[in-house]
Amino acid sequence: MVLDLFKLDGKVAVVTGANTGLGQGMCVALASAGAKVVGVARRDCSETKQLVEEAGGEFLEVIADLSDIKPIDDILNASLKAFGRVDILVNNAGLIKRDDAIDYTVEEWDSVVSVNQKTVFFMCQAFAKQYMKQGTGGKIINVASMLSYQGGIRVPAYTASKSAVLGMTRAMANEWAKYNINVNAIAPGYMVTNNTAAIRDDEDRNAAILDRIPAGRWGTKEDMAGAVVWLASDASNYVHGFTVAVDGGWLAR
Ligand code: NAP
Repeated sequence: MVLDLFKLDGKVAVVTGANTGLGQGMCVALASAGAKVVGVARRDCSETKQLVEEAGGEFLEVIADLSDIKPIDDILNASLKAFGRVDILVNNAGLIKRDDAIDYTVEEWDSVVSVNQKTVFFMCQAFAKQYMKQGTGGKIINVASMLSYQGGIRVPAYTASKSAVLGMTRAMANEWAKYNINVNAIAPGYMVTNNTAAIRDDEDRNAAILDRIPAGRWGTKEDMAGAVVWLASDASNYVHGFTVAVDGGWLAR
């Protein structure tokens, strides 16, 4: 039965940025498909824990600030201690800082690139090593953006880092596909979360964005469910290095 390919029973998924937004939505989706979930965040994840448990799942919270790569070993060790293995990594934590390129500061640049790019790469490396050690293969799902394809407005470091996510995803897939490690990405379109609060509050930007989305609405965290479960499951075993847009048709325009 083809739907069995999408089941995640017995799998362990680690999701960063699990306390809110798209990360929270993906934790619930992975748990609904059967995975045990480790939620990584720099603040309390009790809301996500409750939603995961309501979906019939198990949830472990790991508090970590991903502006530095130091917590990576602790995240992996806590996951292994609780559940004995890891199978799925979702690099979702990310931030955006808005400023004109002409005024952009080194501090703004470093804060965005460290979380969105550097930590993502070293999380992937640590999990790939663990998948090789386990001999199981595994799944890595990075969260890209429309700005992996486009320049964006007043977010140069975000654009740089999300373009890097698309490229790194391909580069790592090329190297690790032979170990049955699938590295792919999801590029969300314009979604209702804290990340987009500022542009949704700006009446003109909000109207311009909505007008350009063929689906005629902003995306929601629930819209991420199908893509993340597919890329986390055996249904995507021959999919490597691809970035799937979940964008209401934005890139098709
Ligand atoms: P969000 O609600 O702002 O969530 C971002 C998550 O990343 C939060 O959990 C945040 O934690 C976490 N995070 C940020 N810096 C961190 C750090 N130093 N250490 C640990 N966690 C950190 O926004 P979102 O829209 O759900 O974003 C999720 C991902 O989707 C991001 O990578 C974002 O770039 C990407 N994305 C979003 C959209 C969209 O339209 N919303 C579109 C394309 C891509 P705190 O709550 O503590 O800040």
